[in-house]
Amino acid sequence: MSDSPKEEIKLKGIAASPGIAQAPAFIFLKREFDVPKYLLDPSAVDSELERFYGAMVETRRQIQEIRSDIAKNLGEDEARIFDAHLLVLEDVALIEETQKELRETRFNIEFCFHKVAQRYIAFFDNIDDEYLRERVNDIRDVTRRMLFNLLGHTDYGISRMSRMVAGRILVTKDLSPSDAAGLEAGTLKGIATDSGGMTSHTVIMARSLNVPAVVGLHKASEVIQEGDTLLIDGYEGIVIVNPSDDTLYQYGEFNLRKKNYLDQLQKEAVLPSVTLDGKTIPLLVNIEGVRDLEHVTSLTIDGVGLFRTEGVFLRDNQIVSEEAQFDEYRRVVNSLQPRITTFRTFDLGGDKMLPNGLISPREKNPFMGLRAIRYCLRFPDAFRNQLRAVLRASHYGPSKMMYPMISGVGEIIEANRILDEVKASLDQEGIPYDRNMPIGSMIEIPSAAATIDLISEHCSFVSIGTNDLIQYLLAVDRVNDMISDLYEPCHPAVLRTIAYIVEQAHKRGIKVSVCGEMAGDPIYASLLIGLGVDELSVAPSIVPTIKYLIRHISSSEVSKLAQKALRLSHPGDTFHLLKQFKIGVFKSLIDA
Ligand code: PEP
Ligand code: MG
Repeated sequence: MSDSPKEEIKLKGIAASPGIAQAPAFIFLKREFDVPKYLLDPSAVDSELERFYGAMVETRRQIQEIRSDIAKNLGEDEARIFDAHLLVLEDVALIEETQKELRETRFNIEFCFHKVAQRYIAFFDNIDDEYLRERVNDIRDVTRRMLFNLLGHTDYGISRMSRMVAGRILVTKDLSPSDAAGLEAGTLKGIATDSGGMTSHTVIMARSLNVPAVVGLHKASEVIQEGDTLLIDGYEGIVIVNPSDDTLYQYGEFNLRKKNYLDQLQKEAVLPSVTLDGKTIPLLVNIEGVRDLEHVTSLTIDGVGLFRTEGVFLRDNQIVSEEAQFDEYRRVVNSLQPRITTFRTFDLGGDKMLPNGLISPREKNPFMGLRAIRYCLRFPDAFRNQLRAVLRASHYGPSKMMYPMISGVGEIIEANRILDEVKASLDQEGIPYDRNMPIGSMIEIPSAAATIDLISEHCSFVSIGTNDLIQYLLAVDRVNDMISDLYEPCHPAVLRTIAYIVEQAHKRGIKVSVCGEMAGDPIYASLLIGLGVDELSVAPSIVPTIKYLIRHISSSEVSKLAQKALRLSHPGDTFHLLKQFKIGVFKSLIDA
């Protein structure tokens, strides 16, 4: 008798990256840490134990180093807490149980160690003795450090996970931007996460991989079992677990219609980006590194409007050397020229953390903390390295550079001062670079928007980062799915702020681009053009849609649309107005 088919379950989340795919699930568990679970080959058990011992040695070395630093700076008493940490590493029972778990289950060492450590933590947590309960924190700390060493040592990197997720849909509680940066295009079929908002960096990176993604599914990683068949619909934000034949048939039909629609978009994608009344709106793309070039070089676009250079750092999980950065930047500039490459100096912090505390992981409000230009100005060595690498790359093709998270003119002046020093040192060494490379600023903090007149005096161009601008204007965390309904691009405050930036920058002859996700959404792109934005920079996969839109609107009509939108008080009404307009633009395509 055959097994009865598993029950179909439909999960609703937030549509984050378009596309439909059907594939088995790969569950990537994330508890305190992303702890992968996979079965080892019997021959790999000994080398896995070696890895365990190696991580213990490294962990011990790190703790001893911290201990002696603390003893030197704060005194012996404070340092003694780390003796307790060292004792955890000597706990014979913990070590033996981990070895036993590995030999019996043959699961990878991170998983076994984590499992045993969690058992210990639960045990101590339930004891009615304050001293023993305190030990829980020691074990937690040491466990995290051990796991970091096991996972951070590039042997178990995301690249290994990349191979495991090949041909599957990745299901996880939360995918960090550095995990996402390590995923390879072309292997993975889709991404489904329990948490996340539309403009989280994880989602942006997923979009650049060109795979369907649904976020904010809340319990997907619990409901879905390893190997379940999934159907992911990145247009509607739906994940169907074990889809029935009926559902598969309906999606097959939908996919066919979608394919016709996409084929028609593709036909126009090679044509110029000009409105019906002859206004050119340069269309550029957002990239994270050379990895994305494969989707970009075949597109008819005007260049890269946002190179999120931190993508290079996140992939390697460290501050990358000048040479390695130069190599990557030059390859990008070379493949794009004669089109422009717009470098954004690295924007780490917020939800884009590096391990090892290179960007402090202990901040209470990391989005308002030591992020982006703030970090660069506080620790200028890493910034100088990057400026050298960007300047050197500018010799190989048209380049621009902009600073992220600028809150006022002071930061631009200080960053430009460091830039001048770097230029002087390159001059001394006789290294060529583009002396006239335009320098701009991202406008993504309300204080920068409010002082755009002053900022324009110090920039050759500005680019509005709507993802952050909305987050900071409305005080809505962009990665928090619990309040994603409050993240409203149509809020009058957002419209008025963009209108003000454009008006003030234009008065001073400064061009305004938008590189946040609003630019790549056909509902908002018309509004932005109507508000006078000069150019748009979008995810590569969205180019055909936005190109079609630009070619089928007139600038005078969208300017009236924007004026009308500016008079509305309720985001819902504005959204409705813009949606109806979009439907009108794409109607001929749908009818065809
Ligand atoms: C933005 O904030 O809109 C932006 C483009 O930058 P990021 O998404 O990388 O923060
Ligand atoms: Mg930003």
